[in-house]
Amino acid sequence: MSQELRYATIAQLTTMLATKQVSAREITDAYLDAIEVSNPKLNAFITITAEQARAQADASDARIAQGEARALEGIPIAIKDLFCTKGVQTTAASHMLEGFIPPYESTVTQRLYDAGMVGLGKTNLDQFAMGSANITSYFGNVLNPWGENLVPGGSSGGSATAVSANLCAASLGTDTGGSIRQPAAFSGIVGLKPTYGRCSRYGIIAFASSLDQAGPITKTVEDAAILFEIMAGHDEKDSTSAHHEIPHVSNMLEGDMKGLRVGIPLEYRPDGLDAEIAAMWDHGVEILRARGAEIVPISLKHTKYALPTYYIIAPAEASSNLARYDGVRYGLRVHEAGMGIDDLYECTRSVGFGAEVKRRIMIGTYVLSAGYYDAYYKKAQRVRGCIINDFREAFEKVDVILTPTAPSAAFKIGEKMDDPVTMYLNDVFTVPASMAGIPAMAIPAGLNKAGLPLGLQLLGRSFDEVTLFKVAAAMERDLGFVRLKV
Ligand code: GLN
Repeated sequence: MSQELRYATIAQLTTMLATKQVSAREITDAYLDAIEVSNPKLNAFITITAEQARAQADASDARIAQGEARALEGIPIAIKDLFCTKGVQTTAASHMLEGFIPPYESTVTQRLYDAGMVGLGKTNLDQFAMGSANITSYFGNVLNPWGENLVPGGSSGGSATAVSANLCAASLGTDTGGSIRQPAAFSGIVGLKPTYGRCSRYGIIAFASSLDQAGPITKTVEDAAILFEIMAGHDEKDSTSAHHEIPHVSNMLEGDMKGLRVGIPLEYRPDGLDAEIAAMWDHGVEILRARGAEIVPISLKHTKYALPTYYIIAPAEASSNLARYDGVRYGLRVHEAGMGIDDLYECTRSVGFGAEVKRRIMIGTYVLSAGYYDAYYKKAQRVRGCIINDFREAFEKVDVILTPTAPSAAFKIGEKMDDPVTMYLNDVFTVPASMAGIPAMAIPAGLNKAGLPLGLQLLGRSFDEVTLFKVAAAMERDLGFVRLKV
């Protein structure tokens, strides 16, 4: 029974709770037991909040007994350790913030708690969300349960493994250039990066503020819709959060595809695209065509500039955001008797940040420096404008765009580590949507010959997550992907 509970979706668990087939406490205990067994190997969680989770589950059971269940009552969720959680250590997987206990709660996690979520703990990630394989964490790498010594993708690797290994009903991630979608693809699960501004960034440790978005990582499209409806919405604590109405998507997933125009961008099929990924993409196209959609070849001309410009803009913003970790205000302080303030900054930052974070800070500081600002940062901003325009023009002709999520399946620990650029190429299909701020969803499409999951990505118009959900739900039914049962 406890095994079967762990495989269930949020929607199924909610029904089981409502019909009193199971209690929130039983579900929570099933996950906590599994975490205890698996986490020493998979390393998906940095902090496990077992006691808090049990108390929340008991409170949920009391509410259910009184007929006062809320939308997410008693559902155990894992939280990426980039969301500040009041009274619970929040590290961003860095030594810098080890032991940091925020005095406040992020808006997104607060909304989920207010809806009845049970918080199982804080999941591992690439340090400060910088990475694509979850190998830059101060707390060690995360493993993908789909194979031996396999990376889960990154940066939300702990959140992805927590879902794919059935250690939670769903999890929260953040996505700056692909950190929800790429690990979802590597792990055979669903990941949504909402439109920039949909979910409040308040209380999320900032990486690149013009790109960061919170989103759900789930077993099904329906579960992603359930979480999205709760997480999204304007927040006066985040001036970039949007005033758009939140659609009720979870009950409108049955949709007709007739008249739907699906764009297939030429630039996402470079010479040398992995043949199995190309075949999976073609299969996705056929599914939509068979459902009556019109397939439209499109061009997104500036696609090849997206990755290089991302690796100027994201480090630039990171170097500014991470300036606050100086040994004075937060977390780690390296200080010896007689040390002046400059030495304190320098020693704290050199000990507190990992190599990848330092690389980004140096690149960012360089491209923002007086002599190079125009040549790099300003130019990158202009190119970003061209990328946004490409999508704007494309969405005059199509309603949704279908692409692969990542250029490869999950790889082994140690691979792609020879130089940083090889690692950065993982994000080639996810970064453009981040640069444009549009919503994007990864869904599991099938397995390659090695038995590893491959993902497809749907891109939509700004604030049109509804179309993404509808198309993704239909494709999910036709693709018939079988989730891992471990
Ligand atoms: N892999 C990308 C990077 O390292 C994206 C990370 C993210 O989305 N947080 O910047």
